[in-house]
Amino acid sequence: KAVFPKPKRTRLIAIANQKGGVGKTTSTVNLAAAMAKYGAQVLVIDMDPQGNASTALGVPHASGDPSTYDVLEGRSPIEDVISVCPDFPTLDVVPASIDLSGAELEVADMPNRNTLLKEALEQYLRQSEKHYDYVFIDCPPSLGLLVINAMCAVTEMLIPIQAEYYALEGLGQLINTIGLVQDHFNPVLLVSTMLVTMFDRRTLLSREVFNEVKGHYPNIVLDTTIPRSVKISEAPSFSQSVIAYDPRGLGAIAYGEAALEIAGRSQHVLDALDARRK
Ligand code: ADP
Ligand code: MG
Repeated sequence: KAVFPKPKRTRLIAIANQKGGVGKTTSTVNLAAAMAKYGAQVLVIDMDPQGNASTALGVPHASGDPSTYDVLEGRSPIEDVISVCPDFPTLDVVPASIDLSGAELEVADMPNRNTLLKEALEQYLRQSEKHYDYVFIDCPPSLGLLVINAMCAVTEMLIPIQAEYYALEGLGQLINTIGLVQDHFNPVLLVSTMLVTMFDRRTLLSREVFNEVKGHYPNIVLDTTIPRSVKISEAPSFSQSVIAYDPRGLGAIAYGEAALEIAGRSQHVLDALDARRK
């Protein structure tokens, strides 16, 4: 088992890309599971009304179950809505259900509507006796209020990029939105990580996409890529991460390597965040 360096303080990371189907949820659950398997204490917050991250981590999330919805609406502290992933005792999950689809309209008139998650998360991290190494927030495929809440609650963004022809399309819009959040709410926010997903090493296109993204963002794009894998795509139907479902497979190995690469950059990222605070 590789040595897994824990960050000196909690890393707060939102996984976002307004495009659907690029591997946000898959990357959230499998990076979180890989880190928990390495011994890190991890919290996943599901901010997508689809609740796919909750499904893949095996936690209950029927309509009416305690969830992110209750947290955003101020009915429950995070502490009261956490479930533990059955496969990994150090992986906590704040589940999301379809109820969350109502939240955007219901909180639209509140003056602090953009920072509801931030306030709840800060309170929880301050009061919990647990120390988290990583908090991951899985975002829905939009740039709406739920995503803004996620961007306000974290210090880092992780952007999954699918290795396909239109990979960089829409990235400018996402970077613009991040810029607006930096200007108005969260000046520290840093795009710390990009991860190329569904990579097919046999195709020229995959390698071209990787090289193009790496050329634009050399210090942000992980060298590890996630291969296209049937096991990765079928794991959620067994309510499992691929880390639990197929621990020796290529998918689990790749997410494990990506988790190690992210962990290995912790000091660099935390220093960069400190420099932005000055
Ligand atoms: P998003 O959260 O960005 O919408 P998902 O993580 O749900 O994207 O992935 C979209 C679909 O692609 C899902 O069906 C998922 O199982 C599948 N998928 C994601 N990553 C891989 C991969 N590396 N190999 C094969 N299928 C994948
Ligand atoms: Mg998703």
